[in-house]
Amino acid sequence: MATYRIVCTVENPSGHSNQQNHIVAVGVGDDPNKAQRKWTLDEVLRAIDRGDLFYTKGMNTGKVALVEKYTCAPCSRVHIRSAADKVTDNNLNHIPHCSGSTQLTQGLSPNDGLMATEHPALVRM
Ligand SMILES: [Zn+2]
Repeated sequence: MATYRIVCTVENPSGHSNQQNHIVAVGVGDDPNKAQRKWTLDEVLRAIDRGDLFYTKGMNTGKVALVEKYTCAPCSRVHIRSAADKVTDNNLNHIPHCSGSTQLTQGLSPNDGLMATEHPALVRM
């Protein structure tokens, strides 16, 4: 079991009214200003299933919030969100967006041939 701090997120509009954006990838690392590794949503979900913990930490409050799985009813897809202990600055929907798209293609395409327009996570970069 391991513990990972999420320092940035990649979000997609959910398309559902009254719903937060869906988080499709996260950056993980000890330095809040620089993600050491990008994890796709599915990688995070698999790790949580293994017993790993993901959390966010507020830059200002220093408060820690665990990240949990939830099933988005409109699309019947499992996503991640901040658990109930979130405050504004450790809310998964409020922490910085990951910058740079090159690392995001890791694991998605073996030859880096993925066009940004083909993957919804990259469209907004
Ligand atoms: Zn949804």
